[in-house]
Amino acid sequence: MGMRPAFLRVLICVIWIVIIGLVWLALTQRPLPQQPLQTQITPIELPTPGPAATPVAAAAAPESAPTPATDSTANFVGQVELIIPVAGVRPDQLIDTYDDARSEGRLHDAIDIMAPAGTPVLAATPGKILRLFHSDKGGITIYQLSADEKTVYYYAHLQGYAPGLSEGNVVRRGDVIAYVGDTGNAGVGNYHLHFSITAVSDPKRYWEGTNINPYPLLRSTVR
Ligand SMILES: [Zn+2]
Repeated sequence: MGMRPAFLRVLICVIWIVIIGLVWLALTQRPLPQQPLQTQITPIELPTPGPAATPVAAAAAPESAPTPATDSTANFVGQVELIIPVAGVRPDQLIDTYDDARSEGRLHDAIDIMAPAGTPVLAATPGKILRLFHSDKGGITIYQLSADEKTVYYYAHLQGYAPGLSEGNVVRRGDVIAYVGDTGNAGVGNYHLHFSITAVSDPKRYWEGTNINPYPLLRSTVR
């Protein structure tokens, strides 16, 4: 008879351990099935606002555009619609030469668009022809100010200007403004358009500003 209570006590202990174990399991297991549910929900939610949110962000961005240099490219996409400024060149033919090294430790800060001599150069965006300028490096060049006066477009190594083009002209996107050449330091026979985009704070000081890589902007153009 002395063995019985001892056995019962052990049994009760075991039952308690099992009950506590089950309760502990139930408590710890409960959040687990919820977590996979939550992680399932998030990827589903994310893609939907993603593309929808981009135009909203781009639309809201222009106000803050001048301040951060790194954001300017992102703001730009929503702000300006560009075309590739050389007739007949497709987006997939472009090569990103923006970070290429140039003389005197400078970076290229522009894109070179290869094309045969005399290929029409088109206004990438609507705006005013600020300056027709000849320089040693750029050869025959054009500075164009965007319609919002926030950006300067620079076209260099031109063979010549379109007939009648003069400073102060307001051109439309796609207007022929010049022809591809090899003037300046392009290298004889190395016909291409050197094209750069600069965000300017003062349009009167059109040569100063923050350069923006034209490549991603022109790559995303649809023609
Ligand atoms: Zn160049």
